[in-house]
Amino acid sequence: MYDIIIIGAGPAGLTAAIYARRAAKSVLVLEAKFYGGQIINTPDIENYPACAHVSGYDFAGKIYEQAKALGAEILYEKASEIKDNGDEKEVITDEGSHLARAVIIATGSKNRKLGLEGEDELIGRGVSYCATCDGAFYRKKAVAVVGGGNTALEDALYLADIVEKVYLIHRRDSFRGDEATAELLKGRGNVEFVLNSTVTKLNAQNTLESVEVTDNSGKTRTLEVSGLFVAVGRIPENKEFGELVKLDENGYIVAGEDCVTSARGIFAAGDNRVKTVRQLVTATADGAVAATEAIKYLKEKI
Ligand code: NAP
Repeated sequence: MYDIIIIGAGPAGLTAAIYARRAAKSVLVLEAKFYGGQIINTPDIENYPACAHVSGYDFAGKIYEQAKALGAEILYEKASEIKDNGDEKEVITDEGSHLARAVIIATGSKNRKLGLEGEDELIGRGVSYCATCDGAFYRKKAVAVVGGGNTALEDALYLADIVEKVYLIHRRDSFRGDEATAELLKGRGNVEFVLNSTVTKLNAQNTLESVEVTDNSGKTRTLEVSGLFVAVGRIPENKEFGELVKLDENGYIVAGEDCVTSARGIFAAGDNRVKTVRQLVTATADGAVAATEAIKYLKEKI
């Protein structure tokens, strides 16, 4: 039996592994796809302290190597369930099952996509799901943001300070996000609202060149943009654990800054828990906190 099983080998999970191993706990990390999580797709990270420029691939590789060198065991298996038998937790995977005294769920979340042809291929070449990560690459260019929630509104506001022009495309005529932020956007001379409209086509040679938007009457317009920031919500990867830990109405694990969930000995770290800022730095911070709380929990059990 392991001291701690960590589900997910993204920045949160691997940081938790580093902290747990440094406290001499036995650690198994389970990963369904490949280590690194969503950061692996980011071409250039500019906002992580002490790393002015690092590719997501290199960053993920370094945390992975660090966790491995410290003795974390990593298996590529998809966790489908956690059976909570009190002091013993059983994690069921597609390959079998593993036992631990504590579990950290660090499964992250995935971007909701528009489902347009070419969307996946253009990630990093015009299509982005993170304005704070990629906005600086579009300095003095025209971009579009799609979505009507707080993320889209705040992304548009953030980008308006950097880029030449922002089109904010939303499928309805009123925003789901805060009125105050929408009012701030109205005051920006370089932001144009494109309401009652959806993006229907991406035009690209090698990189994005324009997007086609179609309004509710069926009229189509082409917007010359080199960046499209998709902010139509995220999907937390928690559905396997909803029976065990409390989730909020959007499917995020209810856990505060201490990463403690509603189930004793089960912790949540990273983008899959309720929080306001979902960034690389907050994911790694969660990893440290969740591991520290798990270690504290194990000590109380001795
Ligand atoms: P969200 O609130 O779920 O908004 C998603 C937006 O995308 C909605 O406007 C929705 O349109 C639109 N949408 C969904 N699917 C679409 C599709 N296929 N095509 C086009 N548009 C689509 O997501 P979010 O903005 O990421 O925010 C998530 C949560 O975090 C919210 O609770 C939000 O308030 C919170 N948040 C808070 C802050 C803050 O407090 N500063 C900052 C960011 C986010 P409809 O409106 O028509 O459904």
